Amino acid sequence: MTSRLSRARHKLLTELQSHGLDNNVVLDAMDSVARESFVAGSFEEEAYADKCFPIGHQQTISSPYVVGWMTHKLDVQKTHKVLEIGTGSGYQTAILCKLARRVYTVERVESLSQSAEKRLHAMGFFNFSTEVGDGSLGWKNQAPFDRIMVTATSPTVPQNLIDQLAPTGIMVIPVGHSDDTDQRLMKITKDEEGQVTQELLGYVKFVPLVGEQGHTDKDLKSSVRSS
Ligand code: SAH
Repeated sequence: MTSRLSRARHKLLTELQSHGLDNNVVLDAMDSVARESFVAGSFEEEAYADKCFPIGHQQTISSPYVVGWMTHKLDVQKTHKVLEIGTGSGYQTAILCKLARRVYTVERVESLSQSAEKRLHAMGFFNFSTEVGDGSLGWKNQAPFDRIMVTATSPTVPQNLIDQLAPTGIMVIPVGHSDDTDQRLMKITKDEEGQVTQELLGYVKFVPLVGEQGHTDKDLKSSVRSS
């Protein structure tokens, strides 16, 4: 890494801290993952701006603040088995790999999943498994999960994901339509008895979760027509 990029990374982390992200475990994980490896070459210089970037297939890598904030709210421990929906570039996967025992990550676009896997292996991450498919259905034969992170917005919280969350588990998921300027970032908690509670964390903007328990292709086409 050039010293310019390393200075930019340091500056970004200080900025995130001054915006209230005071979780050192998450900040250290973000400090140890080279974000420039996940953004297209033309955006490399800006990799440490607090911005999201296109990653192809009309998808985006989330801004560092959103990654940090969602990871903080997920409260991942070294013993945890984590399910991530929406592998995308693999940046969020890398942060989760730093914190968890193992990460199971599902992506519907095959080429994104393959390049994320290759990139993560090249960076020395091996405590994860990828799957190409509809993550709104979860990953049934690996369930239950201690933590679930969804990085695409769903019309409602998919029941399959609630079912695959372990007792005392936490899920963080954006809920709303892709056109909504304010999607709700929700924290779903399951207690020892399996009782589920929901908490509104704030407002975000994500690409849609497209799938059986997410948005249908038809929803998206009609929203394009009506906008
Ligand atoms: N976390 C990613 C950004 C994700 S963008 C990163 O750090 O780069 C959202 C991703 O969710 C996109 O790659 C999109 O293709 C994927 N996606 C959308 N619907 C999905 C579904 N039903 N199952 C799995 N992945 C899905």
